[in-house]
Amino acid sequence: EHDPLPPELVTSSSVPERKAVSVEVVRSPDIQEARLGLPVVAEEQKVMEAIYNNPVAVIWGATGSGKTTQVPQFLFEAGFGSPDSPNPGMIGVTQPRRVAAVSMANRVGDELGGLSEQVAYQIRFDSSVSDKTAIKFMTDGILIREIAKDFTLLKYSIIIIDEAHERSANTDILIGMVSRIVDLRASMSKEDTKIKALKLVIMSATLRITDFLENPNLFRNGKPPLIQAEGRQFPVTIHFARRTQRDYVDEAFYKVCRGHKKLPPGGMLVFLTGQNEITALAKRLKEALSNTQGSYAPGHKVRIAASEAPLETEDMELGTETSQYDEVEEEDEGNEEDLFDNQGDKEFEVDDKTPASSQVHILPLYSQLQTKDQLRVFNPPPENARLIVLATNVAETSLTIPGIRYVFDTGRAKDQKYDKMTGVQSFEVGWISKASASQRAGRAGRTGPGHCYRLYSSAVYERDFDEHTEPEILRMPVEGVVLQLKSMDLQHVVNFPFPTPPDQQSLAKAEKLLSYLGAVSSEGKITTVGRQLSNYPLSPRFSKMLTIGHQHGCMPYTIALVAALATPNLFIPGKQLGLAVPTQSEIYTNENRQADEARTKLISSYNHAHHLFSRNSPTSDALKALTALCAYAYAPSKDDFCKEMFLSPKSLNEASNLRSQLTTIVHNNNPSSLPSTSPLQLPFPSKTQISVLQQFTAAAFIDQVAILASASTSPPDLPRKPTRAIDVPSLPLCPINTKRKGDSDIIDIAVFIHPSSILAHTGVKDLPTYIVYSHLQRGTPATIEGAKKPRTRMHALTAVTGKQIAGLAKGT
Ligand code: ADP
Ligand code: MG
Repeated sequence: EHDPLPPELVTSSSVPERKAVSVEVVRSPDIQEARLGLPVVAEEQKVMEAIYNNPVAVIWGATGSGKTTQVPQFLFEAGFGSPDSPNPGMIGVTQPRRVAAVSMANRVGDELGGLSEQVAYQIRFDSSVSDKTAIKFMTDGILIREIAKDFTLLKYSIIIIDEAHERSANTDILIGMVSRIVDLRASMSKEDTKIKALKLVIMSATLRITDFLENPNLFRNGKPPLIQAEGRQFPVTIHFARRTQRDYVDEAFYKVCRGHKKLPPGGMLVFLTGQNEITALAKRLKEALSNTQGSYAPGHKVRIAASEAPLETEDMELGTETSQYDEVEEEDEGNEEDLFDNQGDKEFEVDDKTPASSQVHILPLYSQLQTKDQLRVFNPPPENARLIVLATNVAETSLTIPGIRYVFDTGRAKDQKYDKMTGVQSFEVGWISKASASQRAGRAGRTGPGHCYRLYSSAVYERDFDEHTEPEILRMPVEGVVLQLKSMDLQHVVNFPFPTPPDQQSLAKAEKLLSYLGAVSSEGKITTVGRQLSNYPLSPRFSKMLTIGHQHGCMPYTIALVAALATPNLFIPGKQLGLAVPTQSEIYTNENRQADEARTKLISSYNHAHHLFSRNSPTSDALKALTALCAYAYAPSKDDFCKEMFLSPKSLNEASNLRSQLTTIVHNNNPSSLPSTSPLQLPFPSKTQISVLQQFTAAAFIDQVAILASASTSPPDLPRKPTRAIDVPSLPLCPINTKRKGDSDIIDIAVFIHPSSILAHTGVKDLPTYIVYSHLQRGTPATIEGAKKPRTRMHALTAVTGKQIAGLAKGT
């Protein structure tokens, strides 16, 4: 057997021949046959040629064409990852999602038969990697943290960055980093022959990546070759809804029931936005479709009642949701009835006259689901039963589910939203892009001709859908990214080859915040504190709290506080105002009164558990969140507790897990700050501790200060201009444009205290002059007369004194 030629010597026409393959794989006949049908396998020669001849190569092919499962196997068979080959380093494959990393490792292991133990995965807190591992699937976050530890990635001979079209922030950053490491390894290998070059392969399901391929800053050796694997796609007929229903889960229920009754056999895939929706819909569908021989039970009647109730109230984001309302108003004039007869039938008329399957096999698919349960979608459904998969975006391009013929697309996804001006970051349900809609439709055409039922009208699609989703890096605060880059000694982040660079303003803001947190020096170099902060898998704000949080024996509380603040949506928003008591100016409704009672109850329950944070310190929502989490640890029945207190069981559970994880990390980093067995049921903190915890919070959000509109004090020098807060609760009456001394130092927006805040019940006279907030949110206050513009409200407030912020701003 010959050794393959070293990469440099291979000319474009000479690909190492089959005999140079160093690993022989014996696959089962089934697998072998399935492989041969994959477009990527047909292009193996071209793919390997491009990889041998170039430091960077790009592979583009429709979802399901075999990129993720096959390309790592080509490399494996060619000797990549084998100790004695010229490319002994591992084949590293990154995925934006944990489920994809795990399931793809399993699948490739299966395909490799007897060699399966050479395939492994690594995700946060779970790994199957061993010294035998040759192919390693991992999330992109894992590889970024590995780069932080070893900037040369010597363990690897090739890195495959998969799903690049999704443009996740981590993927974008990795493309920039690994392109540099490829250059670095090339020059290292010239000086030391023991060091091998590193290759980079970027894989994408769409051409969404072509815009940065020609960036000479990113790919210094010229534009990488683009290899296309021709997709084997059957035609998919797209059906738009005539009207766009606001309650899309309900609409999905109705359409799936009807579709199941009318449509010939074939799997169904329903795109929803998250776990709660999926669980709810699965339950309804099971009730309606089990044992009914395919006829949809009276369940659909529920629909009318449900769709008349407004879904959400003031906590809705602007933008997409507003237009959604417009749409409903415009189109909702038709007769409700016709949805239940003609139209639905016509919509589901398909040439194939094969009778519909009778039973259903309903499976959920979302990231939080246990891996073994996620993998159930790959098993064939019971005979005669129709597979119905209820999935999030994860089924859009990461996973290919066999046998899907019908796609039901709600057109929504839960996306991270970020407002550059205010720094607001949140997960909101919004419209997907046209590109995503087309990917989703494409899922129906893998097995044969398919149908895609869009639960939105073509008017909405044309008017409200963007062409592509904006790269994530433009939709998030970048202080974490900047700190990460600096921890790799990249002082001038502007020079980093981002595929799509964040704007200067965001970068400057991040630098300023980091310097206030003490993470970078005045020259922009990372400090010792900065290095400490970069060790935590958290936003630098929260890491900062953990590095100072040991004072006055507060560490266990600080950890709980960080866990509570870093977990979104602890309190259930919307109609039930969570723990909120509405301000006097809000109209009292029954729900509000109910929420009021719940809060009183909460306090008495905390009382019972000796957790009186909120009574002792009615000036901080951050402490309210801490209280909720601490009391949760005492609650005998978690579910009942959450229900009674309008808390989200899922978020509380997540926060609780994060709390345990942080406890471990903090203990490992600094054993003296925390006893190894730190109990989750904490005793009541002292008055000093409460005040110190409040200061930690202020330190973390030092760049997000609001100043009372009527205050006459000049604001101290702050990382960002303070935001003007309008006096609450007299707020609707307060003129926003009152000029005052020092106005030029203040951001020109008026912000309000959210009625869910603990501070919303403070009389105007007692309101603090300065407040730090964790985020701002715009809403539509329909209940307030005369309010033309939607108000921007502050969430998770903590009162601070001028002295405190002046001290913090000076870094004391
Ligand atoms: P791509 O990455 O191009 O989207 P994949 O490599 O993920 O494609 O998938 C290739 C094919 O392998 C798909 O057509 C799919 O049906 C099949 N496949 C992938 N994973 C599994 C699995 N766990 N079980 C059965 N088939 C699978
Ligand atoms: Mg793939």
